[in-house]
Amino acid sequence: MKKIILKKGRDKSLLRHHPWIFSGAIKRIEGTPERGEPVEVYNATGSWLARGAYSPDSQIVVRVWTFNQDETVDREFFRCTIENAVKLRHSLPGFASNFTACRLIAAEADRMPGLIVDQYADYLVVRFLAAGVEKHKSVIVELLAATTGCRGIYERSDDAARIKEGLPEATGLLCGEMPPEEIIIQEYALRFKVNIQSGQKTGFYLDQRDNRDYLRRHAAGKTVLNCFAYTGGFGLAAAVGGAAKVTNVDSSSPALEMTVENMRLNGIEETCYENISADVFCLLRKFRAEKRKFDIIVLDPPKFADSKSHLAKACRGYKDIAILGFQLLNPGGQLYTFSCSGLMTPELFLKITADGALDANVEAAVIKRFSQAPDHLVSLPFPESYYLKGLLLQSR
Ligand code: SAH
Repeated sequence: MKKIILKKGRDKSLLRHHPWIFSGAIKRIEGTPERGEPVEVYNATGSWLARGAYSPDSQIVVRVWTFNQDETVDREFFRCTIENAVKLRHSLPGFASNFTACRLIAAEADRMPGLIVDQYADYLVVRFLAAGVEKHKSVIVELLAATTGCRGIYERSDDAARIKEGLPEATGLLCGEMPPEEIIIQEYALRFKVNIQSGQKTGFYLDQRDNRDYLRRHAAGKTVLNCFAYTGGFGLAAAVGGAAKVTNVDSSSPALEMTVENMRLNGIEETCYENISADVFCLLRKFRAEKRKFDIIVLDPPKFADSKSHLAKACRGYKDIAILGFQLLNPGGQLYTFSCSGLMTPELFLKITADGALDANVEAAVIKRFSQAPDHLVSLPFPESYYLKGLLLQSR
């Protein structure tokens, strides 16, 4: 049996069922576990704590499978875990009737560290981002197919996180039929085309589903600036909700080409929107110089902070766009601002946004807070799983 022995006093987070063990907490390793192999974790006085997957190259040397000593990491373990995750999604309100795409497995929050599974209509897109799930890939894929009855499973393990785990990038069909190049999904009142092979991440940002729907219900007659638009998302929601004019901005031209298709798919006239391929930071400055104003501005940037060392720089980025966003609002306008960095706490995000309003000389009040859609599970012992925060600010 391969063992990980922790240093004295370094068992506190595990006792609270946080699933990560960092290299600095480890006193010694007994035996020579292979990459991804299950290991037994003990504290300094010899008490068993957890069973996890070993990842020799990562800062996170062990990701915990289970805190129950009787639970072995075998086919039955994966079957139960996957079935529970899928069952939970089916129990969410509106799951079957309101949308045809959702996150079925949200990694650590679903007790499957490093595994993301998104369902797009009849197909699954999977990301194996840690050594443990990679080692058990074939059984996981087989069980996913059996549990969901999907037509095919496509892998998008092309992420820098794989490198940290000592794994090469991997993409391609894992089982069943090759999905079509574009899959059409329903999300409340909207339909989107998703390219799961060349799109970002698994193809679409499902976590913003409920927030896009909120904007749809509050955009009638407004001019809307949708920054970091990707394939249209919030801009399409605003247009379908009757916005007077939508301006989508993204640095990715393929994403904006898909925005045109998504607008067409939902019957939005070309006169209702414009797409601008640009760097948001530069374009907002240009708009400020031109004195352009909008009734609603959406800021949904990518993750600015990947690690604690990047947090200070990330804060400057969030503040910069917040200032610009506030400055471009019409009197009484609304700013929808989001952060998907797990390291950014809600309190810090609120403070940065307040600093932005102050610098922009705009008085604003928080009239709503947003978070990720509930299929992007937040697990209590793993606060990092609560990553998407948003604020709706009303300027006065
Ligand atoms: N709001 C979108 C998701 C945004 S993801 C939705 O609802 O689907 C973040 C997007 O920001 C990506 O499409 C990426 O291409 C874009 N992006 C990243 N940095 C950028 C920058 N500096 N300027 C413009 N777009 C940027």
